[in-house]
Amino acid sequence: MNTNSLRFPPSVLPPETENLRADVRSFLSDAATADAWKSNSDFGTGFSPEFSRKLAERGWIGMTWPRDYGGSERSNLERYVVTEELLAAGAPVFAHWIADRQSGPLLLRYGSEAQRREILPRITAGECFFSIGMSEPDSGSDLASVRTKAERVTAGWLLNGAKVWTSNAHVNHCMITLARTSEAGGDRHGGLSQFLIDLVHDDIEINPIVNMLGAHEFNEVVLDEVTIPADRLIGKEGEGWQQVTSELAYERSGPERFLSNFHVFRALIDAVGSEPNVQQEEALGRLAGRAWTLRCMSLSVAAMLEAGESPDIEAAIVKELGNRFEREIVETARQICPIEPVFEIGNNQADFAGLMGEAILRQPSFTLRGGTTEIMRSIISRGLGLR
Ligand SMILES: Cc1cc2nc3c(=O)[nH]c(=O)nc-3n(C[C@H](O)[C@H](O)[C@H](O)COP(=O)(O)OP(=O)(O)OC[C@H]3O[C@@H](n4cnc5c(N)ncnc54)[C@H](O)[C@@H]3O)c2cc1C
Repeated sequence: MNTNSLRFPPSVLPPETENLRADVRSFLSDAATADAWKSNSDFGTGFSPEFSRKLAERGWIGMTWPRDYGGSERSNLERYVVTEELLAAGAPVFAHWIADRQSGPLLLRYGSEAQRREILPRITAGECFFSIGMSEPDSGSDLASVRTKAERVTAGWLLNGAKVWTSNAHVNHCMITLARTSEAGGDRHGGLSQFLIDLVHDDIEINPIVNMLGAHEFNEVVLDEVTIPADRLIGKEGEGWQQVTSELAYERSGPERFLSNFHVFRALIDAVGSEPNVQQEEALGRLAGRAWTLRCMSLSVAAMLEAGESPDIEAAIVKELGNRFEREIVETARQICPIEPVFEIGNNQADFAGLMGEAILRQPSFTLRGGTTEIMRSIISRGLGLR
């Protein structure tokens, strides 16, 4: 086994981030009073363009990007502090989340100057939200097998195919989609390219897919003889695989991979109360220890990214362990504080039974989105030279 390359060097946040943390907390306390959101630490729940615009006014969207494109040129560690505070407070972050986390950075790295100038300032202003157009009916884990095709035509590109599980395509402005532009040949990762789709103006069909909670968050996006201009190709034709995998690295390394049920953990502590029995004490202590360890590991990954390294295996480990921890919170709650979970579609009750009802239905998605547990384990074992 090759464990030499596996590292989680201890990382400490620079002292100046503490002022930023205090600013974010004060902003969140005011915003929570004004907007009265239902606190949920899962980034994929609250969609509020108004909240995203308020965050943008503070310079906290695209905060690491160059000023030329509307960014604030802050560090990845400063972004980490903002991210964990937003999640811990259960703020409604989903509207800008994908654009801030991965679509913007992808455009910054591979987009044309015209694409960067047109889109990045709209993202940092909280006015342009993105979807991810990767998965297809038979291509989820095996992303290289996508069948959506893009052909060069006189007017630009002609797209045909369908994407599924496309979060928020019905309310977002743009989608970056992966399509086949030529035969794969010997390398099954070859012949793929990425395109910018205008979800509002392009001639596409967006059909709702209702999830287990009865909510419309996913969609099917049908591209049936859709023509888009030539300048919507992102990066280089045929290099979509390299581009898309770099996008996935942004997707797997953040605190959102272990904090999705943090609000349930907090509610569990309240429900147990100030006089826990021994079993409850032990169980809560174990969860707190895991949360702290995961935070140290995730912070270590953030520091390596800040130093320009590519800690892909470490990020996959954080996601795998983090998703397991998110499930463990709910399982522990069922053991040490048994109640009858309640779930009603559209019920906004934030009591413990209501939180548990929602968490039980939502948590199967945590180990699927952003790459499944089996795929994370496969990346880790390959990275360690085990297969
Ligand atoms: C909440 C949520 C939001 C999402 N949002 C988006 C989005 O916005 N855009 C988007 O493009 N996609 C999105 N997805 C889709 C997500 O990326 C896929 O569900 C995921 O990649 C798995 O693909 P699949 O569903 O096709 O399952 P499959 O790939 O069919 O996998 C089914 C099962 O087989 C296992 N498996 C598959 N291949 C292997 C293998 N080689 N070895 C071992 N086990 C394997 C998997 O681990 C899984 O358990 C979202 C999913 C969720 C749950």
